[in-house]
Amino acid sequence: PVLKVALMGLGGYATRVAEAMQQCKRAKITGLVSGTPEKLKSWGEKYAVPEKNRYNYENADAIKNNPDIDAVYVITPNALHHDLVIRMAGAGKHVICEKPMGLNAREGKEMVAACKKAGKKLLVGYRMHFEPATLEVIRMRNAGEFGTLRFFQGLCGFRIGDPTQWRLNKALAGGGALMDIGIYALNGARYMVGEEPVWVTAQETKTDPVKFKEGVDETITFQLGFPGGIMASCLSTYNMNNLDRFFLDGDNGFAELQPAAGYGPVKGRTHKGPLQVQATLPQQTIQMDAMAAILLDGTDPVVPVDGEEAVRDLVIIDAIYQAAKTGEKIKLG
Ligand code: NAD
Repeated sequence: PVLKVALMGLGGYATRVAEAMQQCKRAKITGLVSGTPEKLKSWGEKYAVPEKNRYNYENADAIKNNPDIDAVYVITPNALHHDLVIRMAGAGKHVICEKPMGLNAREGKEMVAACKKAGKKLLVGYRMHFEPATLEVIRMRNAGEFGTLRFFQGLCGFRIGDPTQWRLNKALAGGGALMDIGIYALNGARYMVGEEPVWVTAQETKTDPVKFKEGVDETITFQLGFPGGIMASCLSTYNMNNLDRFFLDGDNGFAELQPAAGYGPVKGRTHKGPLQVQATLPQQTIQMDAMAAILLDGTDPVVPVDGEEAVRDLVIIDAIYQAAKTGEKIKLG
């Protein structure tokens, strides 16, 4: 069977997802949710979504009675994820939610609980968890090819433009670069190391307090400590370009990825030479086919993409903000 997906929030990233889904074997766009009638019309025509499967934010709960839709993919600004995910689970649909899943761990836990109560699955759009070159590094790590791991470095950022965009509005974004792009370094640290961190320290720098208002982080460096002593050093920024780079170091070898979390193709090398595995399909195509298998067949991905996984990131994000503010080393778990 094919996963019948309604896209909610028809902005920049939804555009990319929709295009990539045209190559999916197991996922299909069958519904649309938007506050803009013209978008519902143009997207509906482009992707052959009939009028009866087009909704706005007021009447979206009626998706409940629509057998043409199995899952709703929430691709709105961050602050809307919490309520919309809970509403769609309440409407009896599986939910896929973009990252960051919520604004903080409390929101994330509420979302997980609501989906569980509704008996619906909650997945988060962690596209890198299905990315072939990334999975090859994880395979090598699990096979012991790097030996005992000691260190991970994750650098993620870009110079953000338009100061009026929602990403620079605390109320809609929940924060700044860390919520948007630094989360890739954090999440990457966890899947590249393959452990959960036990402490975090962090430092914040702000060079432009006009563009980056109170509560909107421009640049944060953070460090994570893992149980066996592995350390991670990460950079999250909205003020530096060309940062999309992972480095994983062990006693017997290393892996270096650049781009590491961008749309790809992810490229890299290890101590053995250039990474041979490279994606041939867009990441979102691979992601949506894999998510269809998770939701329809109950398959387990190598790196999880469920709500609990996303809550782990949100718990650490809360701790990074607290560490940056207080200067303290925050214990996790
Ligand atoms: P965007 O601004 O391009 O699109 C957001 C959409 O939400 C717009 O169509 C907008 O009209 C709609 N919207 C609905 N209610 C709104 C409101 N109250 N205020 C403002 N807009 C509202 O943003 P985007 O880049 O598509 O990001 C959307 C989500 O996707 C974010 O959570 C972001 O973090 C995530 N994202 C993920 C990736 C990824 O690679 N996984 C990449 C980009 C964005």
